[in-house]
Amino acid sequence: MRLSKTFVKTLREAPKDEAAKNAQLLIRAGYIHKEIAGVYDYLPLGLRVIEKIKQIIREELNAIGAEEMQLTALQNPELWKKTDRWDDQKMDVWFKTELAAGGELGLAPTHEEPVTNLLRDYVSSYRDLPVLVYQFQTKFRNELRAKSGIMRTREFLMKDLYSFTTDEEDHKRIYAEVEGAYKRIYDRLGIGEDTYETFASGGVFSKYSHEYQTLLPVGEDTVYYNSDKSVVLNKEVMEPEVLKDLGVTEGELSEDRGAEVGNIFTLKYKYSEPLGLKYQSNEGASETVFMGCYGIGVSRVLGVIVEKYADDKGLVFPEAVAPYKYYLLAMGEQGSKRAEEIYEQFKDKDEMILDDRDARFGEKMGDSELLGIPYRVIISDRTLETGEVEITNRRTGETQRVSIDKFVASL
Ligand code: ATP
Ligand code: MG
Repeated sequence: MRLSKTFVKTLREAPKDEAAKNAQLLIRAGYIHKEIAGVYDYLPLGLRVIEKIKQIIREELNAIGAEEMQLTALQNPELWKKTDRWDDQKMDVWFKTELAAGGELGLAPTHEEPVTNLLRDYVSSYRDLPVLVYQFQTKFRNELRAKSGIMRTREFLMKDLYSFTTDEEDHKRIYAEVEGAYKRIYDRLGIGEDTYETFASGGVFSKYSHEYQTLLPVGEDTVYYNSDKSVVLNKEVMEPEVLKDLGVTEGELSEDRGAEVGNIFTLKYKYSEPLGLKYQSNEGASETVFMGCYGIGVSRVLGVIVEKYADDKGLVFPEAVAPYKYYLLAMGEQGSKRAEEIYEQFKDKDEMILDDRDARFGEKMGDSELLGIPYRVIISDRTLETGEVEITNRRTGETQRVSIDKFVASL
């Protein structure tokens, strides 16, 4: 990508009404744009990070046999009435709208109802199960507060996976496979070491759900943990009975802040029963399908990565999700010529930003840091005297001189 060709510009200051570090930095660096409170656009760089996060999730879910699809954002109220979730008292985050021809529609805050209803057309026998389907979808939630930047928004991207099995036993097998996939996903996203599977409230249909909480000072949730016993729980389930279940006492727990990056649930028959998703068993009996659901907040994950890695110079991205790997910065006539050649030679790999703007060197240096690209590569008349480039690791700040041939061979 040539910086001279993109319409996006870095900004010296973030909007005054933007309180969260993640959104401030992403706006200044030109990754996102703010529409209104809790509603953000993804610009080319931001979208590339989102796509990389999605691809990691996709690879790990496909590896456990899940199939990707895409449901609609517009919702039929009739389905949600059957599960008693259309009522604003029961589900307080609805955005609702109306058809021109009359009648209500909803903008999906989640997708249990439509996916369960859809499968009624395809599942009839035990031979049709299990089914494991997922999507990346925009969710709409009328959140009361939106103060955490892209970590809590009114329109956001979620990965939601749903499992449909004949019984609890097969459900448990799949649940454990998803847990494995989630561990690999958070590891690859660069937040694995701070992300814990946490006991949280599961609602009426099962005792607990598991949340994935990334420990973070600006996280909205309060969590309690005991590293020796590897127990982490959300404050919302901090009750004597739960502590007894988990084999810890209150005194053994320390408090911390967490950001919920995922949540997995055993749904049992909560949606399949009222929506009538049934199958015929081996013995010919009509049985209700057993369900689970598994979410990851894709756009929230981006916010968490930013919060975790950013420093006083700007964004810092782990290589796996960085929009580009290299930021090529040229200086002097020879340096610029050589940088152009290298960029042209490797532009198809699409991992390089060439800062070919007509700007001061200091400004380019500043932006190379603000953008958080893992490696800055300086090619100048001076480095070329010894046939070298200067490579700086954005995260550690370490600078190395490497021969230009060796650098090119590594691309
Ligand atoms: P929270 O408790 O933070 O409001 P939730 O428990 O209501 O979230 P889920 O229904 O479990 O959210 O949704 C799955 C995932 O989607 C969450 O774990 C979170 O990562 C993400 N998510 C939920 N609400 C938002 C939001 N308003 N903005 C961005 N991401 C969100
Ligand atoms: Mg949740």
